[in-house]
Amino acid sequence: MRWIFVGASTIASQHMIGAVRAQTGANVSWVVSGAADRAQAYAREHDIEHSTTSLDEALRDDTATCVYISSTNEKHHAQAMAAINAGKHVLCEKPLGLSLQEAQEMVSAAERRGTVFATNHHLRCSGSHRAIRDLVASGEIGRVLSVRIFHAVHLPKNLQGWRINDASAGGGVIPDITVHDADVAHFLLGETPTDVVAQLATSGMGQGVEDSCMSVWTMPSGAMVMSHESFTHPFAGSGLEVHGTEGSVFAREVMTQMPFGTITLKTAEGTREISYSAHSLYERGVSEFVSAVQGNGSPAATGPDGIKSLAVALAVREAAQSGRKVHVDYGAFA
Ligand code: NDP
Repeated sequence: MRWIFVGASTIASQHMIGAVRAQTGANVSWVVSGAADRAQAYAREHDIEHSTTSLDEALRDDTATCVYISSTNEKHHAQAMAAINAGKHVLCEKPLGLSLQEAQEMVSAAERRGTVFATNHHLRCSGSHRAIRDLVASGEIGRVLSVRIFHAVHLPKNLQGWRINDASAGGGVIPDITVHDADVAHFLLGETPTDVVAQLATSGMGQGVEDSCMSVWTMPSGAMVMSHESFTHPFAGSGLEVHGTEGSVFAREVMTQMPFGTITLKTAEGTREISYSAHSLYERGVSEFVSAVQGNGSPAATGPDGIKSLAVALAVREAAQSGRKVHVDYGAFA
């Protein structure tokens, strides 16, 4: 299975090229970048056969059936639409687009074309999140009352570019991290918020975009979700807690790209550590995407999952900017 990588990006070099190459018989054949010299250097560095600045040229390669898109956020829509129209299966980075309409168009186009379209929400591929989801689903913690998501990190120096200073490229912590947290809540609870309230801030990095956000979401079941994202917290650590009528789950350092962290379950019987599979999050995501392309099952996070996480992020930003409680609009994929 040959892949076209659209975007000579950090996430591709750090995780996704390796995740594709970990699959039997798979390789990255093309890299598409906005700059020819950068495309060539990236291809050389990562041993990729072809480089180009023309997405159309890469898409004309009939032997390449899958496209991974990890350009800056404002480019996802046009690139995904071109790839889908060329009959390719697409694994697209989050946020799927800048608006709900863009994301809906991408998912609808793939449905019409009959190609697989997935969102690269890596956290739902982690063994830790899957173990927590299983605990919740087993009923061991009873009825879920609340979820607390701690995802305030320190953005590494090499990523302090468009994310912190370019609203038109989809910068800001809400499109970057709140979308992931929205997907985490959806994955763990099997439901998505009806309403959100939020506040945002710039606390040292953001230039014209927010670098910090706190929000509270109301779920259809009545559970409350509290979510905190930031680019400016060097020592906060990440975590996740699910509190139910019969028990609580405390997960530490699990909001990461690596299979790290601990999970502790506390019930009336006492406290115990929960073990989980420490597989690569990105390899698992690619492997489930490949299976879906081969006709087996669904990708870990589908197109509609990506629409939902984007819808929550858009509502959070609107709530923070307006100071009002916002009803989440999921559009046609509600
Ligand atoms: P990068 O900033 O590394 O790359 C984005 C684009 O910026 C690239 O496509 C490239 O453009 C350009 N670029 C990158 N490095 C340089 C450089 N040194 N000089 C000039 N241009 C450069 O972004 P990320 O990899 O962090 O993010 C890309 C996408 O992936 C985003 O949509 C983001 O939300 C998502 N992401 C997802 C993660 C996940 O776990 N699911 C984690 C991290 C990011 P060109 O291709 O035109 O050369």
